[in-house]
Amino acid sequence: MSVKPAIRDLSVSECENWFAEMGEPSYRVNQLLGWLYRNPVAGFENMTNLPKGLREVLHGAFRLWSLNLSQIESADDGTVKLLWSTPLGEHLESVLIPMLRRDEGRAEPHHLTICVSTQIGCARGCTFCLTGVQEFSRNLSVAEILDQVLFTMVWLKGGFPETEALPLVLRELPLSNVVFMGMGEPLDNYHSVLRASSLLANQVGFSHRKITISTVGVVPKILKLSKEPEVFSLALSLHAANDEVRWRIMPRKRHYPLKDIVEALRVFPLPPRKRFTVEYVMLKDVNDSLSQAKDLVRLLNPLRCKVNLIPYNPFPDSPYAPSPMHRIEEFQSLLRQKGLSAFIRASRGREILAGCGQLRWKVEHG
Ligand code: SAH
Ligand code: SF4
Repeated sequence: MSVKPAIRDLSVSECENWFAEMGEPSYRVNQLLGWLYRNPVAGFENMTNLPKGLREVLHGAFRLWSLNLSQIESADDGTVKLLWSTPLGEHLESVLIPMLRRDEGRAEPHHLTICVSTQIGCARGCTFCLTGVQEFSRNLSVAEILDQVLFTMVWLKGGFPETEALPLVLRELPLSNVVFMGMGEPLDNYHSVLRASSLLANQVGFSHRKITISTVGVVPKILKLSKEPEVFSLALSLHAANDEVRWRIMPRKRHYPLKDIVEALRVFPLPPRKRFTVEYVMLKDVNDSLSQAKDLVRLLNPLRCKVNLIPYNPFPDSPYAPSPMHRIEEFQSLLRQKGLSAFIRASRGREILAGCGQLRWKVEHG
């Protein structure tokens, strides 16, 4: 099947070349970039400062959207899961999460965070992750990563009247944070993730620190990232305080030793007053004992970080059970007593299987 190229997969110089070949003046490139990034619109026909004929030529040559929004599921807590399909019938997903601000005891939705995918499947094979237990298929392109965010921005503004409406409360909130915590390992798709992040920061207008790359600890890529001119926030998915436990839940051949991961973070040029986020999924009787909490404190001692304890989101045939909440709270208390910032991350949208890879699994496996 032949599919038109997605326009956001073109670099700026490729856009410039295309306009030059079409005999268009060079200022048109900047006009187009405005519609693609700074003020995204639903269709080429909405790019009102481009001549009508040019809009039609663009429409004939490119796809403005690399993904179709094919399913929307809302949970009672306001979380919305978005299932996208590609022209080849592949599926990937994002989750839109209203973030709450606690004010005088009341929790009010304050802004939106979008959790985006970077790959279809994931080759890292973590056994507690539904994406990891499915087959790896491919990396997403720059356009496919960006379009999860940009389509959602246009949709929030009412730009797709034909698409099922979002709850009003969401439409009024600013979409200000992007986290690469959907399907896939972002650092295994390094160049596209970095290019998409850079465009989100420099063209779309997201703050660098509100773009978070979450990694399972791909040491050479963390070292490479530390030499990049642009710094984004970094989250590390740790899930264990020693290699023995980690390699029980995450296949040894596909993961790095903890001491190398911690060392890569220790030398990372973290901006002043910034901290890493350490993600720790709480698996009952696997990684949730108090002696493991003590080991975690020791392991993280060289790092400026905060720890997010994540209630496990089980899926059909999963070999793990979630830790009971009292155990998560005891684990958290111990970390706090020892001086580590530790939070229990609310499990959002559990009733729509809002964990990584779960809506896609449901659609493809019934
Ligand atoms: N590959 C990257 C980013 C995607 S996974 C990474 O591992 O960091 C995003 C987060 O979701 C990770 O912290 C991962 O451990 C967590 N996660 C995966 N499956 C989960 C599940 N079933 N329940 C709760 N968290 C899960
Ligand atoms: Fe991949 Fe992250 Fe899932 Fe592990 S947790 S399999 S690295 S997506």
